Amino acid sequence: MNPDDRLIIPKNTVRILQKYDFHFSKKLGQNFLIDDHVMDRIIKGAGISRDDCALEIGPGIGTMTQFLGENAGKVIAVELDKKLIPILEDTLSEFDNITVINDDILKTDITALAKEYNGGRPMKVVANLPYYITTPIIMELLEKRAPIESLTVMVQKEVALRMQAKPGSKDYGALSLAVQYYSRPYIVANVPSNCFMPRPNVDSAVIRLDIKNRPDESVKDERFMFAIIKAAFAQRRKTLVNAVSSVGELGIGKEKITEALLSIGKSASVRGETFSVAEFALLSDELYQR
Ligand code: SAM
Repeated sequence: MNPDDRLIIPKNTVRILQKYDFHFSKKLGQNFLIDDHVMDRIIKGAGISRDDCALEIGPGIGTMTQFLGENAGKVIAVELDKKLIPILEDTLSEFDNITVINDDILKTDITALAKEYNGGRPMKVVANLPYYITTPIIMELLEKRAPIESLTVMVQKEVALRMQAKPGSKDYGALSLAVQYYSRPYIVANVPSNCFMPRPNVDSAVIRLDIKNRPDESVKDERFMFAIIKAAFAQRRKTLVNAVSSVGELGIGKEKITEALLSIGKSASVRGETFSVAEFALLSDELYQR
């Protein structure tokens, strides 16, 4: 498409918003990107080529979708807000490799999309995510093992830092462990709030998660391990023994947890925030056995 007509140029975004009398929904996390340097870093960071099928979550008025249409072989864009669908028909009319679907990404059958549009092969997710549901979207894709090879997504900076945090740091928690169990995360770019219209009241970052074919740790029961992790971080100031034993649903007493910790060579006074994924896997297998 003619670069002068792209929506990434703020005046073109304004023109489309006025043409359709579109009003941003704060509730749906609508902050549209208007910075071409950031867009360039996202597209390059995602490593999108004509061999790829890109899945965009929340195309908005189609700003990133236009770039994906130019760089990917196929683009599927899932947008929840039905008011945006006629706008997308207009702004993406030059492209014959883009399919827009009006649906909630949390209810979309991604496996069916990969089958229909990519011969069942994994897709690359590229998105400026709606911040009110960033974590549910990422966790849904990771836990369900959706057919995806990487996610390159704009998120709140604070969330990006949590995803790639290492044991012992203040940002480390259940999200870091879950993301790092399923993928290898790295931050592609930091993005200030003036790159969006309207400006969000937080800073943002683009993070890429490369999905592992299989986790580095083998664990007997993933769900059980993540229940232990959740319990350990629900009260992160407490020792692991106190935090995990205080979760009634798990029904694991202090003695059992102490024994399990000692048998994997750890002290009974450790806190969850110092434990790596591998250590949580060991502990959870030990508790599972007992
Ligand atoms: N991609 C556009 C851009 O970069 O300018 C818009 C990004 S905006 C931050 C997030 C988009 O996600 C909005 O268009 C919003 O309507 C959409 N959205 C919100 N919740 C959604 C959901 N559950 N499923 C799909 N799209 C959703």
